[in-house]
Amino acid sequence: MQCVPFGNTGMTISRLGFGAMRLPMTELNDRRVIDEDVAVPLLHSAFERGVNYVDSAYFYCDGQSEVVVGRAVKGWRDRVYVSTKFPVGNENGYRGCLEEQLGKLDLDYIDCYHFHGIGQWFLDHEKRDEMLAAALRAKEEGLIRHISFSFHDKPEVMAKLIDLGVFESVLCQYNLLDRANEPALADARARGLGTVVMGPVGGGRLAGLPPDLAAKAGVAVHSSAELALRFVMANPNVCCALSGMNAMAQVEGNTVTAGNVGPLTADELDAVNAATDENRRLADLYCTGCNYCVPHCPNEVAIPRIFSAMNHDRVWGLHDHARHLYNSIGSRHVPGNKADACVECGKCEEECPQHIPIREQLAECLKQFG
Ligand code: SF4
Ligand code: SF4
Repeated sequence: MQCVPFGNTGMTISRLGFGAMRLPMTELNDRRVIDEDVAVPLLHSAFERGVNYVDSAYFYCDGQSEVVVGRAVKGWRDRVYVSTKFPVGNENGYRGCLEEQLGKLDLDYIDCYHFHGIGQWFLDHEKRDEMLAAALRAKEEGLIRHISFSFHDKPEVMAKLIDLGVFESVLCQYNLLDRANEPALADARARGLGTVVMGPVGGGRLAGLPPDLAAKAGVAVHSSAELALRFVMANPNVCCALSGMNAMAQVEGNTVTAGNVGPLTADELDAVNAATDENRRLADLYCTGCNYCVPHCPNEVAIPRIFSAMNHDRVWGLHDHARHLYNSIGSRHVPGNKADACVECGKCEEECPQHIPIREQLAECLKQFG
């Protein structure tokens, strides 16, 4: 397994991390529970193959992920880093959640404790400084080793969060088709943060990688997952890529990729970029994601996100992923409304430098996803 220094934390982290958000589930007494007989051996197999970072969160797997992660790291604690996340806004507050999560994990400390899914709203939050003070106190007391954040906002907001001077690592979205956070990751690394990315290999395959891309680029890989992971690993500003593995074949495949095969070479990277450029140009013609239209919409329609979903569907042929992108609009992490909120006022079209007939296109999107 390839390992790298994790920013200035002093940790050395494996380039593949285990995302414990999709652990295998089963039914027990009419209730969905994690299938521990399958999940724990998966985690152990990953640890045996050199994965030394496991990432959970308060809500993962209906709130059961942390319990199973805690059981899996018994006997491995000196070799495996445990990461989880504070659900900001929870009524129990920072300290209450931390103590509850330590209890669920059955651990004395958490290596990387993230503020979960923060962005500009956190900077503006009236209890921001109170929460940060609680984090610093928990670190002083040894309950957490590092203060981290997971990030869902416009890339430029990441720098403002780092400016707070508290965070030691960041977790954000980054993959072959969604490179918006690339400059922000470079900035984070330059400022000494450890960087982890999610979404490069979802469920063992990239959540959104065109099946013919490797062939088009002439890069010999065994699977889309391999291409996806090798692409992310080729970025020196990414320390670790999380994969939400839920089958042994995924653990085996991904650990071989992150261990023996390694990042795309410079030539392979050029070929993959050339193969994606053509599609990207097509997509850019459609909507550049400049966001100029958004503040003018009286109904907060998430226009660029909707068009991004449409691009994934039409341009990349990624129908399931496109629907997932669309359906996520309006969730806690993806603000705004879907296409059905459009009242056809036309204000957005006055702002669009691409002169996109937004109302007409939104109607198309509604037909497609609605
Ligand atoms: S036309 Fe629709 S999307 Fe555009 S500003 Fe009006 S309500 Fe918003
Ligand atoms: S203004 Fe036009 S190009 Fe920019 S995000 Fe809105 S629809 Fe896309």
